Amino acid sequence: SSVVVVFLVGGLLSIVGQHKPGPAVSLLQEIHSLKLNSTVCVDPEAVDRASTDFGLITRAVPAAVFRPSSDSDIAALVGFSYASARPFGIAPRGRGHSVRGQALARDGVVVDMGALRGDGQGRIRVCGEGCRPSYVDAGGEQLWIDVLRETMKHGLAPRSWTDYLYLTVGGTLSNAGISGQTFLYGPQISNVYELDVITGKGETVTCSEQHEADLFFAVLGGLAQFGIITRARIAIEPAPTMVRWVRLIYKDFAAFTSDQERLISLEKKKGFNYVEGSVIMADSLTDNWRSSFYVEEDITRISRLAAQYGAVYCLEGAKYYDHATASSIDQELRSVVDDLRYLPGFEFRNDVSYMHFLNRVREGETKLQSRGLWNVPHPWLNMLIPRSRILEFDRGVFKSILKHNNSVGPILICAMNRNKWDQRTSAVVPDEEVFYAIGLLRSGMDGWKNLEEQNEEILRFCDDAGISYRQYLPHYTSLADWRKHFGAKWDVFVERKMRYDPRALLSPGQRIFTSSF
Ligand code: FAD
Repeated sequence: SSVVVVFLVGGLLSIVGQHKPGPAVSLLQEIHSLKLNSTVCVDPEAVDRASTDFGLITRAVPAAVFRPSSDSDIAALVGFSYASARPFGIAPRGRGHSVRGQALARDGVVVDMGALRGDGQGRIRVCGEGCRPSYVDAGGEQLWIDVLRETMKHGLAPRSWTDYLYLTVGGTLSNAGISGQTFLYGPQISNVYELDVITGKGETVTCSEQHEADLFFAVLGGLAQFGIITRARIAIEPAPTMVRWVRLIYKDFAAFTSDQERLISLEKKKGFNYVEGSVIMADSLTDNWRSSFYVEEDITRISRLAAQYGAVYCLEGAKYYDHATASSIDQELRSVVDDLRYLPGFEFRNDVSYMHFLNRVREGETKLQSRGLWNVPHPWLNMLIPRSRILEFDRGVFKSILKHNNSVGPILICAMNRNKWDQRTSAVVPDEEVFYAIGLLRSGMDGWKNLEEQNEEILRFCDDAGISYRQYLPHYTSLADWRKHFGAKWDVFVERKMRYDPRALLSPGQRIFTSSF
C-alpha cells in the first residue's frame, strides 16, 4: 500500500494515514486541493470505524473520513462533490448509532460530526429568560446529554426526549426522536423552531416554519436526504427537579393497552408526564439495559410471573415535581395509579432526580459495556402499529412468533397521539389517531441471523394480516417498499430530493435513492 500522509503547515487540510492506491487516492487529492482547515483520515482504524455502526450487521467501506473543523468546511466538501465531474457520496455520522448502515458511505466520505463537538463550548447556547419562547441552539453534532447538562444550568430543559441520550441532535432529528414524552409534546421533530442546513448542493440555509419552510419540514424526519443539520433551535421550558417513577405489571394485554391509551388521553396536570410500556419475557430482565430500576428480588418475582404466563407487560409512568409541589406528589400519583388495572402487589416505585431519570439508560449501558455485551450485533426492528390492530399484533407476535424468544434486550410498546406529529415533516406514521411504537431492541449475542428471520416473519405476519404499519428508523432495499413506506408523501419526498440534493450525494446508506457514481 502507498502511504498518503500529508500534514500541511498553517492549519490547512491535512490527510492522515495510509491508503491503498486506486480511485480513492485521486478523490483525496481533490479534496486536499480545497485547502480546508479540516482533516481527511484514511488510516485503517478510522476507516474501519466508519465502515459499520451500532447494528454491526451492515458494512460499507468509505474512501475517507472527513473530520470537519467548521460548518463551512462541510459546506465546501458537499459543494465540491456537487460540482465535480466525479461526485461522491457523503454521510454525516453522529454517533453511528443506526443499526442498518444509514450513516455509511461506500467509497464516499463519512463526515465525522463528532469532530465539531470539542468541549461543547459555543456550540450549545441557551437563551432562557431573555427569549420568548426560550430555546437552546445546539450544533447538529451535539449529544442530547450535553444539551441537557447545558440547559439544566439555567433550570431549563427540552421537553421531548429519546430513552437514551448519547445520540446526536442531527441523528435523531433525521428520524423523529421518540420516547415516553411523545404522547404529550410530539416527537423531537415537533419541538424545533429553526435549523441551519447544508443542502446537497453545498448551500447553507437557515430555515424555519416561517422561512424556507419546505426545506425545514423536508429535513425533519427526512432520513438525512435533504441536508446536513449544523444547528437546531430547540424548544425548552422550566425543568422539574425530581421524578416519581413507577412501573406497574400486567398479565392482561388488553388491560395494559387500554390503560396506556387512557393515560395518553389525559391532560398534563391530570396524568403522567411520561408513559411507556414494555413486554417482559421470562429472561428479558437479565442483561437488559433498562432493568436497573428494580432491586434483585423484584427481578426474580417478575421473571417468575413472566415464565408462568409466557409474557407479562410493564406500564411505566413518571410524574415530575419540584420543591414547591413535593408535598402533594404522593396524592397526585395515587390519583393516577388508583384507576389502573395492573396486578395487585406488582407496583414498583423510585424517586430520582430529573437528570437521573432522563439519563436512566446509561447505567445499564455501562454495565453491559463492562461485560462485553454492548458491542454486539443489534438486529433491531421498530414499527408503528395502528391502535385498532394492537391486540392482533400481540396475539400474532408477542404470544406466537416471539413465544420462545431467546434473545435479550428490551421490547418496548409505547402509545402515541398522531395529532402531536406535524404532518408537514417527512416523517410518516399510521393513519389512526392513536398508534403504538413497538421496539424490538434485541441483541444477537449468539448470532443475529435467527433474529433477523424472526423480524422478517413479523413483517410478513403484518403484511398478510393487512396491518398498515410503518417502520420507524426504516430499512428497505427496494424502491417499491420505500414508495409503500412513504405512501401519500412519496411524491413530495422525491420532489424535495430533486430540489435539495439532485445528485443524491447525501446519506447513501439509507438506500432510498441510487446515484450514478
Ligand atoms: P447516526 O446513526 O450517526 O445517523 C443517523 C442518520 O442521520 C444517518 O443517515 C446519518 O447520515 C444522518 N445524520 C447524522 N448526523 C446528521 C446531521 N447532523 N444532519 C443530518 N443528518 C445526520 N431513537 C429514538 O427515537 N428513541 C429512542 O429512545 C432511541 N433509543 C436508542 C437507544 C440506543 C441504545 C440506540 C443505539 C439508538 C436509539 N435510538 C432511539 C435510535 C436513534 O435515534 C438513531 O440511532 C439515530 O440515528 C441517532 O443516532 P446517531 O445520532 O448516532 O445518528
